[in-house]
Amino acid sequence: QDLIAVYRMLADRGDYALHLGLTEAGMGSKGIVASTAALSVLLQEGIGDTIRISLTPAPGESRTREVVVAQEILQTMGMRSFAPMVTACPGCGRTTSDTFQHLAQDIQAYLREQMPEWRTRFPGVETMQVAVMGCVVNGPGESKHANIGISLPGNDERPSAPVFVDGEKVATLKGDGIAEQFKRMVDDYIETHYRAP
Ligand code: SF4
Repeated sequence: QDLIAVYRMLADRGDYALHLGLTEAGMGSKGIVASTAALSVLLQEGIGDTIRISLTPAPGESRTREVVVAQEILQTMGMRSFAPMVTACPGCGRTTSDTFQHLAQDIQAYLREQMPEWRTRFPGVETMQVAVMGCVVNGPGESKHANIGISLPGNDERPSAPVFVDGEKVATLKGDGIAEQFKRMVDDYIETHYRAP
């Protein structure tokens, strides 16, 4: 609350560019939540020209997490896109395995890792939405809202995974290689929809 009050006062006093950041935010989720809560209020009010995130890394943890969190705050708020984002369900009693968790994690990491190269090869790919869902309850719905999405089989469902592209069901994946097949479909989507002219 102090940070928000101080920046509001500064913004009222002049037109200088303001660099937002919560110092000593802490470790892990505590630091991320504290920084996001403070900065989002200010950004939503149009206050702030640059941002930084200050996280205490766990021993051995990379410092790049601060940059990823800063980018995800701006992207989640619809202010600027940096890398394709993955929508994933939390999983629940209907989930049959941890496949969707692995797939969501793999895809998110893969998409972010490719961005240095994709930024020039596939302009606009940073706005792409991918959905990885755990069952038929919300899977098809969320998948239809994404550019490309997969609904993995939940409890009592047939062992198949429908894939949706731009709102339309285009394939049903089966067998042990569902994750690899879906990754190839994501690659194909990027090649055909974002290739630079
Ligand atoms: S989509 Fe299915 S598995 Fe995922 S949280 Fe919703 S009900 Fe559970």
